[in-house]
Amino acid sequence: MTKKKKTGKALFLDRDGVINRRLPGDYVKTWKEFDFLPGTLRALGLLRPYFDRILVVTNQQGIGKGKMTEADLANIHRNMKKVIRKSGGHIDRVYHCPDLESRQANCRKPNPDMGKWAKADFPEIDFDRSVMVGDTDMDLLFGKNLGMTTILIAASPAGSKDLAEHSFRDLMDFYLNFVKK
Ligand SMILES: [Mg+2]
Repeated sequence: MTKKKKTGKALFLDRDGVINRRLPGDYVKTWKEFDFLPGTLRALGLLRPYFDRILVVTNQQGIGKGKMTEADLANIHRNMKKVIRKSGGHIDRVYHCPDLESRQANCRKPNPDMGKWAKADFPEIDFDRSVMVGDTDMDLLFGKNLGMTTILIAASPAGSKDLAEHSFRDLMDFYLNFVKK
């Protein structure tokens, strides 16, 4: 990929399992529970010049379940963005969906709502030239629904590979073997 600016290229990142460690069976409810995956901060800094926008899209039904508040999540994301900025990266905006999975017509991935919100905020985004990086089928379907290139982050080969156009171990592997190439 080239470093040229103003190409409409956006990088959409899932959060849990891509930027930070997932908490199996639980939600990251406080900044103390937020743990960056190895190499992620460095990778985010290196990825920055290749995309017009870097956005996070995250399902957070822990809010819908009452396990945390909107303010708790906002605090986590404020800290996350600060640490990323200090290490040379930049997240333009974080979109989250607080809806319960059981709710009809919810904004959760794989539904395209968060992508549409991003396009409303940043009209230059060209989904055909953009990339969605995630660790679940929901992320990959979200990317596909919007016409993006889909990338699976999988520490070990997982079942989602059918839906992913490419698969990498982590964000640094994605940078070195896809973006930088
Ligand atoms: Mg995830």
